[in-house]
Amino acid sequence: MPNNEKILHYADAAVPRYTSYPTAADFHRLEDAPRLAALRRLSAQDRVSVYIHIPYCSAMCHYCGCFTKVTRRADSVADYTRYIVQDIKLQAACFNGRPRLAHLHWGGGTPAIISPAAFRAIMAALKEAFTFEAEAEHAIELDPRYVDAELCALLAEQGVNRASLGVQDIDAKVQQAIGRIQPLSAIERTVSALRRAGIKHINFDLIYGLPHQTEASLQETCEKTAQLVPDRIACYGYAHLPQRRANQRLIDSAILPDAHARFFQAALVGKILTRLGYVPIGLDHFALPADPLAQAAKNGRLHRNFQGYTDDDAAVLLGFGASSISEFPNLYAQTIADIGQYKQAIAQGRLGTARGVALNAEDKKRAALIRDLMCRFRVDLAVYGGARHYQAELARLQPLLADNIAEQSQDIITITEAGRPFVRLVAGLFDTYRQEKTGNFSPAV
Ligand code: SF4
Repeated sequence: MPNNEKILHYADAAVPRYTSYPTAADFHRLEDAPRLAALRRLSAQDRVSVYIHIPYCSAMCHYCGCFTKVTRRADSVADYTRYIVQDIKLQAACFNGRPRLAHLHWGGGTPAIISPAAFRAIMAALKEAFTFEAEAEHAIELDPRYVDAELCALLAEQGVNRASLGVQDIDAKVQQAIGRIQPLSAIERTVSALRRAGIKHINFDLIYGLPHQTEASLQETCEKTAQLVPDRIACYGYAHLPQRRANQRLIDSAILPDAHARFFQAALVGKILTRLGYVPIGLDHFALPADPLAQAAKNGRLHRNFQGYTDDDAAVLLGFGASSISEFPNLYAQTIADIGQYKQAIAQGRLGTARGVALNAEDKKRAALIRDLMCRFRVDLAVYGGARHYQAELARLQPLLADNIAEQSQDIITITEAGRPFVRLVAGLFDTYRQEKTGNFSPAV
């Protein structure tokens, strides 16, 4: 393991999370045309994943980094959902047949803020546009503060089979500092209600690096939440970017754990969850051994998408809603984030594409190389053109080899056990877009 000084040096470096390559920070202005062309190529033979973005919440959490806005007006939300239905119809009108839907994910925001009628209307539009695979995963992000038996019954009726709960931390002092009061009893009630309704697969999202968090408080959060036996637990590092997020200015930087403390918090979470029977997956996910994510990791089928690690291997991801990102084999396309402009575009029969990037052959090669590092902690450069193709990158790798973050043997680079928390630094060496772009990313750990 690198010494303390080195940990600080590496943990403080700002690097992308590499949920995509090129990263969203490298998207540039894009029109609808290339996205329309990609949609027209989709046929009944294609498997796709779908992401629905609902950018509304009842209250703003201080730590939030998502694209969302606070509303108490049910009519604004209802109005937005009508545009989502229209968006689905617009994109489906381009298809050359009904693609098969393998994964459906509702994110936000707080997707369950929409009414039962709106949920059913969106589902009806999706069922008309796609052929749902019998084993399709249907997941939704839920805020345990707003889940009741009625909502669980609706989700079960509509085929939701995985719920992802924002748990963050169960310590009252931490919850106070992040503006999200959510007692453990609310999480217990939500888990019971979901299971009673027949929604068996449950994920928890935790966060380390929050204000007032200590190793002791994190240990308690891990142990008490693991007693509820979620199938998956993700534990992300809090990214404090107050210069970009006004709500995060409500968090006093002085009470945040420093880079050194964050490193040991992340390590502790891994140790505890592994001891409790969870299989570590990639950088920040944990799953029970029988869960499909653990199976995918075991069988070398782990992937990465905008939600993090996934077993979803569909080559196409279609986003619906403001700020959503669609992914095609040769293209990333993001819809405009402003809700008013999104609605205007859809009303005019446009998709509202705002940003994106067309992938060239070199991008695709590096995307696969970076995915190998992020998902398997190992890459064989021979598969991607050989070490000779990466002379500059390998020169920059030398200090990381010297500090035991990674090892190199001929064409093969392996991230060491001790170096795993720093895998994004190694991935970043192969990111040709990244030069001189460091300011807006989260710390490496
Ligand atoms: S953290 Fe979740 S619930 Fe809180 S404001 Fe952000 S999206 Fe909404």
